[in-house]
Amino acid sequence: MITRHKTKKIYVGDVAIGGDAPIAVQSMTYSNTHDVKATVEQINRLHFAGADIVRVAVPHMEDALALKQIKEQTSLPIVADIHFHYKLALEAAKWVDCIRFNPGNINDKNKIKEIVKACKERNLPTRIGVNCGSLESQFEDKYGQTAKGMVESAMYNIKYLEDLDFTDIKISLKASDVQRTVEAYRLLRPKNDYPFHLGVTEAGTQFHSTIKSSIALGSLLLDGIGDTMRISMTGELEKEIEVGRAILKDAGIIKEGLNIISCPTCGRIEADLVTAVAEVERATAHIKTPLNVSVMGCVVNAIGEAKSADVAIAYGKGSGLIIKKGEIIEKLPTDKLLGRFLEEVEKEAELQKD
Ligand code: SF4
Repeated sequence: MITRHKTKKIYVGDVAIGGDAPIAVQSMTYSNTHDVKATVEQINRLHFAGADIVRVAVPHMEDALALKQIKEQTSLPIVADIHFHYKLALEAAKWVDCIRFNPGNINDKNKIKEIVKACKERNLPTRIGVNCGSLESQFEDKYGQTAKGMVESAMYNIKYLEDLDFTDIKISLKASDVQRTVEAYRLLRPKNDYPFHLGVTEAGTQFHSTIKSSIALGSLLLDGIGDTMRISMTGELEKEIEVGRAILKDAGIIKEGLNIISCPTCGRIEADLVTAVAEVERATAHIKTPLNVSVMGCVVNAIGEAKSADVAIAYGKGSGLIIKKGEIIEKLPTDKLLGRFLEEVEKEAELQKD
């Protein structure tokens, strides 16, 4: 049982972050933001893939100026990602739903004060995005690129914003490895109640990012830490969302779509299980109703797994069983099993839809 740390609720557009709000999954476009058509297309792809929030890079004034048109053509809440130039934040704040800045590279408190003023005027939250690789020099000199250094930087910047009477804040503490990332969030969590944006930065390819993010974010989520998240991945936009939602699902935080139990296969296997499970995944990707299904290569564990599955297949020699809620409903030749199973899954998903 996960007891989630109770955090302050803030709003990025109409998406609540923190408190009792669902954990929001976000991603980031990779188009030149001033290319409005490409950026809108990527935002729409992310929306369709299930993103709750999208972040766009704002490296130049032409990008900040394009945000008005982008907002007019999309409905996902947008976070403007600002580095180095506070004036970009001032322009972006006229249009977007949140400003993310890295205190390490806007290292002038008067400029941060201006950003806060612009956010207050439109009631926007900010994310203090601390990155291990770009800490302010006073923290890097003292603590090195460590979790402690990230936490000290975050605390310093939180205090600065609080002194300006600004508390619509979420915080991220990202390193490119699992241990420092987890340590930083765990160290900071008891010190305040601001919502946390989780992520391992520059986590690499789809394969490595999935592993690093699953370990780091999974550990934190099981500790009850985390209010929104982004999977950083050198890969396609949709994959970030898919992995993010899968982490939430497999950590038991959300119930969504199929939980597929399938065996690793061994010398007792009675069917081409790899192809069969891939087909199940493909054919059921549209189903949002939470269902447990099991697809097992022989009868050894199939009957046991089927007891807690809504629908199951147990492959046998030349034939197999379709099992629903632990009851055998049909015995069919191997080549007929998958089609019948998928029919039953669709039926069950429809039945359990709320
Ligand atoms: S269910 Fe059967 S085929 Fe699959 S791993 Fe277990 S014993 Fe092997």
